[in-house]
Amino acid sequence: MLDYTKADWTKRASGLTMRHQAFINGKFVDAASGETFQSINPATDAVLADVASCDLEDVNRAVASGRAAFEAGIWSRTDPAHRKAVLLKLADLIRENLEEFALLDSLDMGKLVTDAATIDAPGSAHFFQWYAEAIDKIYDEVAPTGPGDLAIVARVPLGVVGAVTPWNFPLDMATWKAAAALAAGNSVVLKPAEQSPLSALRLAELAVEAGVPDGVFNVVPGFGHTAGQALGLHMDVDCLAFTGSTLIGKKFMEYSGQSNLKQIWPETGGKSPNLVFADCENLDAAADMAAFGIFFNQGEVCSANSRLYVERSIKDEFVEKLVARAAGMQPGDPLDPASKMGAIVDRKQTEGVMKFVEAGKQTANLVAGGEQVHVDGKGCFVLPTIFDDVSHDDALARDEIFGPVLSVIPFDAEEDAIRMANDSVYGLAASVWTDNLSRALRVSDRLMAGTVSVNTVDALSAMTPFGGMKQSGFGRDLSLHSFDKYTALKTTWIKYAP
Ligand code: NAD
Repeated sequence: MLDYTKADWTKRASGLTMRHQAFINGKFVDAASGETFQSINPATDAVLADVASCDLEDVNRAVASGRAAFEAGIWSRTDPAHRKAVLLKLADLIRENLEEFALLDSLDMGKLVTDAATIDAPGSAHFFQWYAEAIDKIYDEVAPTGPGDLAIVARVPLGVVGAVTPWNFPLDMATWKAAAALAAGNSVVLKPAEQSPLSALRLAELAVEAGVPDGVFNVVPGFGHTAGQALGLHMDVDCLAFTGSTLIGKKFMEYSGQSNLKQIWPETGGKSPNLVFADCENLDAAADMAAFGIFFNQGEVCSANSRLYVERSIKDEFVEKLVARAAGMQPGDPLDPASKMGAIVDRKQTEGVMKFVEAGKQTANLVAGGEQVHVDGKGCFVLPTIFDDVSHDDALARDEIFGPVLSVIPFDAEEDAIRMANDSVYGLAASVWTDNLSRALRVSDRLMAGTVSVNTVDALSAMTPFGGMKQSGFGRDLSLHSFDKYTALKTTWIKYAP
């Protein structure tokens, strides 16, 4: 697969079957209303599928089937070794269908098929495997009460977990939620983003093939204000894991207050700073990763390093290096392995990105890109764009653009860099480039971010928690800490004759 040409990928894409119905209680079904919405390939404007548009009635059906499965104990009360075996099988099935998953995400939201085949799809298999392997290695606690009392503090599954996910990493965002929630013994009702529902539907189908019982993993494609809101307000959903914008994360907090006080775990937006100090010896490596940190996945990454603070003495040299790298990362057909950047997810997002770019042309110094383009006369593409000498107060440096747009801001003193980096409503990630160990530790310590990467960008693994501070939300995906979201602590206190 990794030696496929553009012609190979295109041929395989044309033979792909798209699951387009909702997946409820182990079966594909139409939305109760019969309504559908179009899933569109942003690289070609072609309609991929008419997808079931779920609303309250479908969410009710999905939650009821999740609840029934939970109460029946067919998953929630099974031997951990059984759940482990089933989820390991699911990881294998994802690997067996890697090519299909890569194509589904690439066609649905415009990312490079090569990235989807080497990063997203293998990542999904890895995360399922990681959580499967964890299931029978987690122990509960006995409190130090003393003779005559035995207090067992156990982690128990919550019941029905709702998950609402974004479109930038469709398969992986679904996986981050579902793998840990299922491993813990919950039932899951997942609402994928309306821009990219296809891979989640296939994932749920494979979960049943792997042995996840009917009703335990449901997928309700649909819009935010219908299916998403219905899940958020549902009286029988115990927990809602959300990844998406800060605006909608706040809405979910309201939904919880208006309904059953379900736990809400928001993982929201970002405007991550990347700090490059003059004492960083390998400026070429720093420039490579700074470019990757903003142009990978078309900049549609919550933790994208979109603010670049460079020490003034090396700023011009560094910007020159970045401009050269941007020139080598022009967008192209996402199915062509030679392309370096794919399509923006849809027209609305492209228009939003271009609004920032046009406004930026009046306030900052455009040194690369700055244009919307077509590939083969079609689609939504934006050139890798760099603005130099951006004012720290400009919208370019403040707002999440969620596109391939980098804002470069010079600094003179370490203290200034830290102050500007922290002066944001977001706190998802940050990067620091320096060869001075004391500075690396001192600056990392001061940066308000869920993950600080030193001499790299966007460090991430199944082993470490991923999530933010401030208005980037407080939910954490990945690592064993993710189980905190999907389990409750339950004390069972037993009196006995000592
Ligand atoms: P979004 O907030 O518009 O949508 C996210 C999900 O919420 C979608 O499934 C959508 O249908 C649903 N939704 C929208 N309106 C809703 C409503 N009124 N009620 C209920 N549900 C609703 O975000 P997006 O445009 O899909 O994704 C981009 C955002 O996601 C960016 O802000 C990005 O930073 C963020 N993101 C964060 C992380 C993280 O881990 N922190 C990861 C990826 C993306």
